[in-house]
Amino acid sequence: MSYIQLNMPRKRKTSADCDLIREYQRNWLRDKLKNDPEYKERHYANRQKRAETNRKLLKELKENSPCSACGEYHPTCCMDHHHLDPSVKEKQVSKMIEANSWTKIEQEIEKCILVCSNCHRKIHAGLLTLVYPSG
Ligand SMILES: [Zn+2]
Repeated sequence: MSYIQLNMPRKRKTSADCDLIREYQRNWLRDKLKNDPEYKERHYANRQKRAETNRKLLKELKENSPCSACGEYHPTCCMDHHHLDPSVKEKQVSKMIEANSWTKIEQEIEKCILVCSNCHRKIHAGLLTLVYPSG
């Protein structure tokens, strides 16, 4: 058995590289969607399927959790994810349904608490203050 040793220098990725890669991927996808009708159809069908699965998982999660502030259970349409630290917020969870994997959505959910829309508004209006247990 023989091995091929690759001696490529390990370059640390910078965020500029990431931007370049993202830009490249965006352009590649744009081209593909424009020029390959079969790919386009598959792409949107997959996106649709993923959205359905994500929607279902998110609904289950909301159904089985009470509001972290008032402790009550509410219909899923009245439950929001509130980011505890807005500086690490990437996206609004409910808007990630179509274009993101469930893993990515879960990562975003981990930065949040689940609250009902009433409590959510009160938090943002400064009428409710979140107190974290110490220790
Ligand atoms: Zn509440």
